[in-house]
Amino acid sequence: MDKIRMTTPLVEMDGDETTRLIWAMVKEELLTPFVDLRTEYYDLSLPSRKATDDAVTMDAARAVEKYGVGVKCATITPNAQRKVEYDLPRLYPSPNGTLRAALDGTIFRSPILLPGAVPLVPTWTAPITVARHGYGDIYKGVELTGREGDTVRLTGDAGEKTVFSFKGPGVAMAMHNTDKSIFAFARSCFACALDKKQDLWFSCKDTILQTYDGRFRDIFQQVYDEEYKAAFEDAGIHYFYTLIDDAVARCMRSSGGFVWALKNYDGDVMSDMIGAAFGALALMTSVLISPTGRFVYEAAHGTVTRHWRRRQAGERTSTDPMAILFAWTGALRKRGELDGLTDLASFAGKLEDAAMAAIGDGAVTRDIAQLLGRGTVTDTEGFIAAIRAHLEKSL
Ligand code: NAP
Ligand code: MG
Repeated sequence: MDKIRMTTPLVEMDGDETTRLIWAMVKEELLTPFVDLRTEYYDLSLPSRKATDDAVTMDAARAVEKYGVGVKCATITPNAQRKVEYDLPRLYPSPNGTLRAALDGTIFRSPILLPGAVPLVPTWTAPITVARHGYGDIYKGVELTGREGDTVRLTGDAGEKTVFSFKGPGVAMAMHNTDKSIFAFARSCFACALDKKQDLWFSCKDTILQTYDGRFRDIFQQVYDEEYKAAFEDAGIHYFYTLIDDAVARCMRSSGGFVWALKNYDGDVMSDMIGAAFGALALMTSVLISPTGRFVYEAAHGTVTRHWRRRQAGERTSTDPMAILFAWTGALRKRGELDGLTDLASFAGKLEDAAMAAIGDGAVTRDIAQLLGRGTVTDTEGFIAAIRAHLEKSL
């Protein structure tokens, strides 16, 4: 069989621990035997970040800017314990944070729906993708403790307002956001919905925060009207604004299958709720989308350190490769679409189907067996071999 051709390289960002191991297995067993894989490789593992004083992360971000599509393995965000473990000269920032800032992008998380797995909300038959705005609001909030007799004022060059005059002890807070960040967020959300061919919902509380949340609502509407209306109509999808509480109620009664854009705090909370309702952390994928249409696909989970410790001790583990696999298929499909390579895009679909067929056979990783309430537990290697057998049949 001739290998499937690629024309533009994917930006490949390798990572740490168990996910680095699974990354190599997926490439070796499920990709390179079938695809003439072209990647520009960046090693974002902690030892490599240490060796380059983290310059490799910015190099990878520039490559994504240049080529348009990347695929990333999970990476360690160092803390005090990791600083000792890896003998680091300083605490490097999270690579995901660096990439997000460099690309001015938004992270979209979507669950992988398994045949036979019923979400906790049984009407959700299609994935719900949550987009969380990653800048400002309470995460950059400034707080004060109010004492009896204090008057807290919000002062700007354009004027001053009294927040509250305290008659007894209490608390106060101020927060901000910027048009630049909201515009970038809105553009990434419209790009994501168009990419997925799904409706976009945006919700906030503009009845209460008429200026603050009103600005978000107006910017979303402006970006839609001026930049995306025609493309949405062509694709047969809709943009829909509603109040956050109404959106929550509608979401619970929906059948899923939409992209939900949320402000920073709302997205923080809702992404955990949606994730838990759809199943396991290991079945959550994530894509970083820039306002100019650059894509970085990855698994939402981390490097699975607990399993890595067991692997280091020579044990096999039943670590789920699905989200890593779907990061690769997402990136290959996107590359195929952008380069007009239908073989490549359809390979991505066949690989996903092979994974679903292997799950149907019943020899699965522990988390999947738990989610489905059936099946025999196999290790990662066994599960990947089963996927390969199905893939070979379908090609
Ligand atoms: P984690 O790697 O997501 O793992 C937490 C737990 O979730 C695991 O111990 C395991 O539970 C379960 N799990 C996650 N992925 C799984 C999979 N593929 N298959 C089976 N079970 C899975 O989170 P963490 O342990 O908090 O973080 C580990 C490292 O990852 C940290 O250094 C952190 O900085 C980094 N991290 C990176 C990213 C990223 O690069 N995007 C994201 C998050 C965290 P059981 O042990 O119960 O089986
Ligand atoms: Mg959260």
